[in-house]
Formats: sequence, structure tokens, C-alpha cells
Amino acid sequence: MPSRRAVLAAAAVAAESALGTQGGCAPRSSVAAPARFVPSTAGRPWILVVPHPDDETLGAGVLVAEHFAAGRDVHILLLTRGTSSVARLQINGSRASRWWGVTHNPAAEGYAPLTPETFGQARYGELTTAVHALGGGQVHEAGLIDGEVTVGQAKAAIVALVTSIGRDAGVYAPSWLVDDNPDHRAAGQALRELAAEHPAVYGDVSWYILPPYWSDRRLKQVSPYWDTPSNGQIKNRVRNACRAYAAWHPPHSYAIGYHSVDDMFAVIEPNPRSMLHK
Ligand SMILES: [Zn+2]
Repeated sequence: MPSRRAVLAAAAVAAESALGTQGGCAPRSSVAAPARFVPSTAGRPWILVVPHPDDETLGAGVLVAEHFAAGRDVHILLLTRGTSSVARLQINGSRASRWWGVTHNPAAEGYAPLTPETFGQARYGELTTAVHALGGGQVHEAGLIDGEVTVGQAKAAIVALVTSIGRDAGVYAPSWLVDDNPDHRAAGQALRELAAEHPAVYGDVSWYILPPYWSDRRLKQVSPYWDTPSNGQIKNRVRNACRAYAAWHPPHSYAIGYHSVDDMFAVIEPNPRSMLHK
């Protein structure tokens, strides 16, 4: 295992690389840290807790693809459909979109403005397409409200799924330590509490870190590590999952992921990798 200093140094390199990618002019440096993913126990269930569509690809795309390729029984636990995203206002033309570069006009472009419900359906469609691109996996919905997820609700959703698919499941969630999104933090904290309360059931747990937090100072409290693609097929699968979030084809798909967080996709799509901590 690399020393914490080495891991953090690699994180800083990656963060610089990410910024360079966003700026569009700096050369992209390679990430030096070794991958620490070790596929274990083929067929054993693995659950990824996903607060909103796109978190799975941006925060854990390599993990999903690697676990599926290793023969694990992959489950995606989607907590919300992310219906409060500002991307809905952008697609409806009431907000400008930096990524699109032109203010949408639904009537001129031939589609009906999205309601929270149709927007949620479109986001769910992007997620399922992305999960298929990553290899596959069963998507479960907790049906919680975007922006209002509580630790108790997230714990109940995790417990329900673990109970139904097997107590030996590995469970990964967003970082409880560095992620400032309240839904992400609640999901991470839920898994942290379950692991403390029931260590025999939640013995294989990890937390994934979204790109904006890769160089967060709070990570000094833990030992973050990288999961990089073990081969070109894994890398291509994550890239293709990103493409699911860029697909503009109303009324079938609205590129919601890219309207929402194009800066994060710009980091992941050309150089897929996931950072985790225990
Ligand atoms: Zn999210």
C-alpha cells in the first residue's frame, strides 16, 4: 500500500491535471498513483449508493465497470432522481447553460418544457444507459426527495437492499468526510453509522470522492487511494457512460448530466479514475 504522503501527492497531481483539463490549455499529466482495486469473491453482491443520477459515473465509474467485469453481482441504489437540479431551468430556457452556449428555446427546438416528473424520468434514463455502458447492474430506487435526504432515510434504504440481496454485500457510498452536498453527506454518514453499528454485516465498505474534492485538505484525516482502469475496455466503458449524459435527442434524452456538471465530465471522460477512502 502506498504511503499516505505518496497518495496525497498523487491526489495533488490529479487535481492539477483536472484543473488543466477544465482550462483546456494545460497539458494533461498522467496520474502516478497505482490502482488498488483487487476483484474479490466473484458473484458476491456489491452495492453502490448513488444520491443522484451521474454520481455513479463521475465518482465511481471505474469501480462499477471493474466490479461488473470481475463477475460481481452489481447493484445501484439510486436515492433520488435529482429533480431539483438547475439543469431543468436551463433546458426549459429560463437559465443560460454554459456548456450548451446558447439559451434553450423549447418551442423553437421542438420539445415541451420539462416538469420535475419528466425531468426525473430523463435523468433516470441517463443513469440506466450509463450503467449499461459500464457493463451492467441492477438499479434500485429509494424514491427520496432531491436535496432532502436524511441519514435515517439513507440507512433504511441501504438496510432494505442489503436484507434483500445478502448480508455479505460490499457497500460503497459518497464520502462522509469531504463531500459538501447534503444528500451525498447523508448517504456517506448513513453507511458510516451502519458500519459502526453492525460491523459483521458491513465489513466491506468504502467511500468514493467526487472530483471537486480530490485535493481537499480534509482528506489528510484518511488514506485516499485511486482506482484506475485495469485495461482499455474498462476505460472505454467509463468514457461511454459519460457519453450517455451528453446525448441530446429530445424527447428521448436531454444531455442533463452535461448541462448540470460539464466541468466534472471534462475531468473524467478523457481520463477515467475514481478516488476512494476507507
Ligand atoms: Zn449527486
